[in-house]
Amino acid sequence: MISTPNSSQKISAAILLLALSLWACVQVDLSAPPVSVVVAPTFQPPPTPTVTPWPTPTPVVIQIVAQSPVIDPACTVPDVASWQSITASGSYTETERSASTPMVCHIKRDTCAYNQLVGILDPSIVFKQEEEWPFDTEDVLMHPAMLNPLARLNALVQAEWNGAYQLRVTDAYDSLLEHDPPESEPSTRYSLHYEGRAIDLTTWPVDRNLYGRLCALAQCAGFDYVENEVTHCHASINANSLCTQCGE
Ligand SMILES: [Zn+2]
Repeated sequence: MISTPNSSQKISAAILLLALSLWACVQVDLSAPPVSVVVAPTFQPPPTPTVTPWPTPTPVVIQIVAQSPVIDPACTVPDVASWQSITASGSYTETERSASTPMVCHIKRDTCAYNQLVGILDPSIVFKQEEEWPFDTEDVLMHPAMLNPLARLNALVQAEWNGAYQLRVTDAYDSLLEHDPPESEPSTRYSLHYEGRAIDLTTWPVDRNLYGRLCALAQCAGFDYVENEVTHCHASINANSLCTQCGE
């Protein structure tokens, strides 16, 4: 016996047919990315903080990730005795003013010249950074021409002592004018640190017996004036002062 569809079955079949025909008409474009709808926020943004971050990190900070300086196979410069100096030409009598040219100005923070200093972040160099915030960053700030001799010296130190000693920077740029006696008149203080062209160096761990050799290595690395100041090795460069480039 063949059963015939009743009326409800006919209606169901018609609905199914209609649904199938509608489905067949739908075209889904899978290649198009979904469109995200951005709804404008209706809330008010929070008020801008009134605290102004200072100092702004304006000097360019250079992260040293690799060093490949060409190292002279041997630095044959004799150890620099206590309070003795040596210049790029090998002279023990030439002054720093002659070898590295005189200081031009005191570079103040947040000035045009200050913004042209560079900060060096090299994990293989120890930076003392004993000054209080915000001046603690000044030990990593220096004239850009300082970077090459410093990188060469760092490599020379590592080669000299097979990694047993690291190069440490105890002072570089100094806006606090702390390289003169505290009782001196601030406006007449004189040091190439004040424009980022001088740097004070030690070994790490500290070993003053090594500073004569450290100073010799600094001369080999390309610093224009090096002096063994007993508690550290002071080195400076002959480079265009940032003061003159900014008209300060
Ligand atoms: Zn110094």
